[in-house]
This record gives sequence, C-alpha cells and structure tokens, in this order.
Amino acid sequence: MAADLPARASGSAEPARSGLDADALQRDVIDNLICQQARYPAIATPHDWYRALACSVRDRMLARWVATVQTYAARDVRVACYLSAEFLIGPQLGNNIVNLGIEANTRTAMLALGQDLDMLLALEEEPGLGNGGLGRLAACYLDSLATLETPAIGYGIRYEFGIFDQQIRDGWQEEVTDKWLQKGNPWEIVHPDVTCYVSFGGRTENDTDAQGRLRVRWIPANQVKGVACDIPILGFHVNTCNTLRLWKSEAVESFDLQDFNAGDYYQAVQEKVISETLSKVLYPNDEPEAGKRLRLAQQYFFVSCSLQDMFRLLDLKGEPASSFADRFAVQLNDTHPAIAVAELMRLLVDERQLGWDEAWDITRRSLAYTNHTLLPEALETWGLPLFRSLLPRPLEIIYEINRRFLDELRQRYAGDEARVARMSLIDERGKKLLRMAHLATVGSHAVNGVAALHSTLLKQTVLRDFAELWPERFHNVTNGVTPRRFMLLCNPGLARLLDETVGEGWITDLTRLRELAAHADDAAFRERWCRVKLSNKEALAARIRSATGIVVDPGTLFDIQVKRIHEYKRQHLNALFIISLYQRLRRNPQLACAPRCFVFGGKAAPGYAMAKLIIRLINGVAEVVNNDPAVNDRLKVVFFPDFNVKNAHFIYPAADLSEQISTAGKEASGTGNMKFMMNGALTIGTLDGANVEIREEVGDENFFLFGLTAEQVERVRRGGYRPEDYANGNPELREALALIAEGHFSRGDRNMFRALVENLLRVDPFLVLADYADYMACQERVSAAWQDPQRWARMSILNTAYAGKFSSDRAIGEYCEQIWKIRPVKIDLDRL
Ligand SMILES: *Cc1c(COP(=O)(O)O)cnc(C)c1O
Repeated sequence: MAADLPARASGSAEPARSGLDADALQRDVIDNLICQQARYPAIATPHDWYRALACSVRDRMLARWVATVQTYAARDVRVACYLSAEFLIGPQLGNNIVNLGIEANTRTAMLALGQDLDMLLALEEEPGLGNGGLGRLAACYLDSLATLETPAIGYGIRYEFGIFDQQIRDGWQEEVTDKWLQKGNPWEIVHPDVTCYVSFGGRTENDTDAQGRLRVRWIPANQVKGVACDIPILGFHVNTCNTLRLWKSEAVESFDLQDFNAGDYYQAVQEKVISETLSKVLYPNDEPEAGKRLRLAQQYFFVSCSLQDMFRLLDLKGEPASSFADRFAVQLNDTHPAIAVAELMRLLVDERQLGWDEAWDITRRSLAYTNHTLLPEALETWGLPLFRSLLPRPLEIIYEINRRFLDELRQRYAGDEARVARMSLIDERGKKLLRMAHLATVGSHAVNGVAALHSTLLKQTVLRDFAELWPERFHNVTNGVTPRRFMLLCNPGLARLLDETVGEGWITDLTRLRELAAHADDAAFRERWCRVKLSNKEALAARIRSATGIVVDPGTLFDIQVKRIHEYKRQHLNALFIISLYQRLRRNPQLACAPRCFVFGGKAAPGYAMAKLIIRLINGVAEVVNNDPAVNDRLKVVFFPDFNVKNAHFIYPAADLSEQISTAGKEASGTGNMKFMMNGALTIGTLDGANVEIREEVGDENFFLFGLTAEQVERVRRGGYRPEDYANGNPELREALALIAEGHFSRGDRNMFRALVENLLRVDPFLVLADYADYMACQERVSAAWQDPQRWARMSILNTAYAGKFSSDRAIGEYCEQIWKIRPVKIDLDRL
C-alpha cells in the first residue's frame, strides 16, 4: 500500500484511510467525524468519538477484506462455511485494534484528540447474537480461521434483538429487551444487492420438464427476502479478513397475493407477518414449545439463504453445481442448521436439475455436523404437522432420504426392525417427530463431538447405532477459545509478562506457554505473576462495586462461576457449599479457612423457572452472608448482573478459582473452563467435558477434582437414586437444605424455594446431593492450598503454562485437516 499522497506538513505521509501510524489515524478519525457523522470536535459526544474511531479502524480493515474476497474468487480454493444460528462475537473495536497491531498508535491518536481509548471501548454495545457457549465458540472459530489464513465464511442470522439484557430486582432476574442496533452498528456493511428468496408454506406439484423428466414444483404460500449484512473478521497480524454474513429478513412486496383463492389469502397474509418478524429476535435456549414455528422458519431462512449464496459464488466463478463439494466445506454448528441436508438436496435436484444420486453424493461430501449436547431434552425434534405446513417440499425430500436410508438399513440389518425404527429420521413412537440429529448425521460425511469424553459418550448413547454403521465418520475435535480476545485483549498485564518471559510468538502458538513452567519456581517471577492477578482483581472489585454496591476485598480468594444458569451446571451445588461454609464460620469464627469472594454470573432462559429460582437463591444467600458482621471479612457473595462477552473480559482474568462443577456426562465441553485456565485460575471440577483434558494437560496435582464419574452417575441412577438418603446421612447438608426451606435466605418466606428444595430431595436429576460431600471435601483442599501463597502461585502459573491445547487455533487446525481438507491461503495486499 505505497503512499503516493503528498506528505502533510504536520505529520506522516501515511494515507489517512489505511495508514497505521498515529498521525494517519488521527486524521481519519477527524475525517470520519465530519464526513460520516456531520459532527466536529467541539460538539462531539463520547459516542460520536467512539463511532468515528470505529469507522477509522474499519477503514483499515476494508482493503484487506477486499483483497481477501478477490483472492478467494480468483483461486481454486475450498472455503469453510460455518453455519451457526448464533455468533456471540462480543465487542469488535478493541479486538480489531489488537488484530491490526495498532493499539499504542490508536491510544496516542485518541489522546491527541483529548479522548481516552478505554473509555471509548467501554461505549460499544454488546452484539448479543448468541445464548452462551455455542455462539461464543462460533465467534472464536472465526477469529482462528482468519488468523490461520483459512478461506472461510460465517453464516448466520442478523437478529434485531439479541439475547436479553439481565437486570436483578429484589434478587430476581428480569429480562430487558436488547436494543443493540439502536445507535447503529459501525461494523456492519449491508449489501442490498446480495439477496436471496426463501419459500414457505403452500404445496407441491408434479411436473414434467422439457426432457420429459419428472420434476417437483413447490408453490409456496409466501416468500421472504434475505439481505446480506456483512461483518469483517480480521485475523491477528495477517492480511486475511474473512466475512461473517448475517441474513436480515424482509417482506417481498411484489409477491402476488392474487394468485390465491380466498382461503389461501388469509393464510398468505398471516405468512407475510412471519417474513417481517423472521430475523427480529434470538430465541433463548432451554425454552419449551413457545415460538417454535418462528424458530423453525428462522433456521430454514438462514440455511437456505446461505446455501443459495454459495451457489451464487459458484456461478460467479462460472463453475457447475457438480463442483459444489470441491468449493465448499459446510459445517453445521449443532442441529440448528441441520435442515441444510434437505435444502442442499432441493437446490441441487429441483433448482439445478441434478439426479438424486449425484446430488446426494455432493451433499454428503459437503456437509459435516458438530454435536453439542447429549441431554435428551436438548436434542432437537420437530412435529411433522408443523414442519409440513411450513416446509412442504423439504419434508418430501426428507421422506425420500429416509426411505432410501431405511432400505439400506433393512438390507444390512435384516430382521432388526427395532434398530431400523431407532435410526429412522422420524420418531414414530408417539406423535411423529423429525429427529434433526439423525438428519444431520445421515447427510454428513463427518460427525464430531466437542471434547474427548463427549465424543466417546456420543458414540455410546445418542448416536450409537450410527457409530456402529459408519465408525469412520465419527471424530472428536475438542473445543478451543481464542487467546487474542481472552488473553491479549482482556488481560494485557499478563500478555506483557508472557511476552517478556517466553517471547511474543505465544499468541499464535499457545503451546509455547509451556516454557513458563521453567519459571514457576522463580520467586521474582511469581511475585510479578501475582501482581498482575491482583491488579485484575482490583479492576473486577471496582466493577462489582459499581454494578452491585457490594465491596469485596481483592486480597481474598476470587472463586468464580460464570456461565448460563442451568440445573446440570449446578450453581445450586456451589450455593449449598457457601451455606455450609457460612454455618461453619458462624459456629467457629476462628476456623482456619481461606477468606473468599464468590462471584456468580449468568442468564437463565426466561421460561426456565428452576434456573430463575437458583438466581434468587444465590442473591438470597448473598444478602444474608454479606450483611452478617460475624463472617464479614471472610465471606462475600456476589451475583454479577448481565454476564456477557463484554463483562467476561474483566471476569475471567480476575479469577483464582474456576468452578466447573457440572454433573459428569452432561457438559459437552465447556469453554469457560479454558478461558479461566489461560488466565491462571485453578479449576475445581468434575470429570466432565473438557475438564478431563484440562486435568490431563496440567496434571492431577494442579487440579481440584471431585465427584462421581459419568459411569458412576449412570450406575447411581440405575440403582434407584434416593437423594433424601444423602441429606439424612449428612448433617451439614441437611442443615443447609433446612435453612433454605425455613426461609433463612428469603426473609422468612418458606414458600419461595419450596420447589427447589423438594426437587433436590425427591428427584435431584443432576445428583447435587450425591456429589455434595465430595465437593465440600475438595473445597477444603482448595482452602488449604490458598493458605500457601507460594504453592498457589506455582499452580496458577502452571495452569497458564499448560493451556496451549485449548487455543481455538489448535481446534481449527484439526477441523481443517481431519474434516474440511482446507489449507491456508496467503493474502497479498499488493494485488489490489
Ligand atoms: C465462554 C462463554 C460462555 C460459555 O461458558 P461455559 O462455562 O463453557 O458454559 C458463555 N457465555 C459467555 C459470555 C462466554 O464468554
């Protein structure tokens, strides 16, 4: 990008829109303030400055973006298309500055304009286009794909309202509409010319084409227009700038309602309402029934738009439909996009006139499926009447896929009708249900779980029959998270120390952190390590104070559990421990135990009553504990409201202890566990998800393990689990439950927590009571370890040192090699 503009007297010769030095940045910020926002410095609000800076950073990404798109168009590349209903990308400004490598220059430029960079960064709205781990994983993968210079496009939905904002009132969660787009989104580039049309409802007709072949025509009741809204995704210190393409729905005005008779007319008008609300709102997960129809419509909408877009790209290259699989590797992030199996077949057979067998071969070679859950209630199914009324043609295709698949099974397993019924795409045991995980598996060449344990259990449980039929299709790719956002951006103090200790290369080769182990016994290094942690804890303490009014001591053990609130994640097990610890301290104020600050954060699905009650319980416990002078300097409990990526930035780096206490076998992987580990927290956890691998990497002696194993959990269940026996056999547990039941944490209200206590005593589906005693004992080991600060510092250092495996760069490398067969492509800026 040679600068042939005349040099300005006052500064550098760098062009304003692309120059990376402070002077060019400063000039571009002023340009954008005036030319984009029609404002000038004297009257600019902080948000004006934020926006002018964001546009200036975006300017620096666009040349790279164009070069990237051009290169992919010109070369014979295979592109990874990551289909996900959620992308929880978090604030973009800070990350883009880091990836461009212009942090110091930006700070200088803004200071010259009288603006503090950190203040401006804090003004960015969270793009909450996801519920939690699954959406955040998709975002981490986009970062690694770009950083590894891998051709990729993320495809999803541009929700107008993302995940709700959480407020806490009287200890209860309240949901507030997320209006993230209210002030506009500087990262979004809308392409009104890149549109797709998606059909819904209506009926199908058989037709013969000019060659006399039977063709099916779908006569929809309604069509929706999808408009591409792109967000550039820049890699770290590379020119690769990939695209996250999110689809916004619009009504198709020209759609001719007169084609319908009166009966269809009302139906058509109703369907039109759908088109206008399709991409309005993200559905919180863990929600029962409500909003099902719209959700299915959302899934089909974004999948159809995305696949049509791939064909558009193929057409631009002048390549035939038959080369689809050579050009695209389509990854299905859970079953939300599983309808892609039927839609790709429809596009190939109905729209591109390919024969069934060829189309099926292309479909299978293109698609791969990632499973994210073994929880039976979370496995996606759709009732056939609903599915048929919304997607009549895709359903016919699914019937045909199933007919052929079941024929194959009957040949292979003659007489084993039970197996055939188990594997069918349609569950016919009760009201007929379409099984999306089966559809995704049958239509893919690769299926993977997201941690070693999860992939093993997947093959033994929900997809067992499929793993027996096609063992070679099953893989494991343990999740990872991006160290750019979750170390460099959110923990700059640690990053500096790591740069000085192991050299700068660690950020793109996280296994280099192993070199830290050699410093774990160096007293001076430990001292610096602890200073970084302390300063992160001070920053979190300040945030806690401003968000909740609670004053916490940064010198105490920060014991943190942040993640969605769910019974299987067992925040209530943690609460029971706090209650018991509180009772111990009240009985014996001299008790030798680590002074702790417990921090919780996470949203509950609005319709998940038990999860909301757990939030209320935590706040009830906090109220009692925090106001009891008898324990005051030893125990604090905080529920940090509105846990999201933005807040996560200062929570993970401040943790001493990471709570990963799900019932073994229930958490597919977890990624929060990895973010904590990278930032030097020790884990207390069960043998679940990626905890197993975390413990393997860091060593048993640097991990606090407790609880039943997945196998033991199953055995206890099969043996007729009686939770009340555990309560009766353990006086402290009985006491904690009694205090809750008696209204001790609900200002005397004995009703409030009745459902929770009774559920624990009578059913306890996630074995909270069975694991309580071992958890208590393990927490005592934590306390003892904390009393020896040198030992704790050493373990903390080793956790970061052995976190290398959990970089999303490693995970994306495995997807590229094992599943997608995609290699990096260097982007040359000079080709512009
Ligand atoms: C990482 C992350 C999660 C996932 O946390 P788990 O502990 O793996 O459940 C959820 N929400 C946000 C905002 C995250 O950053």
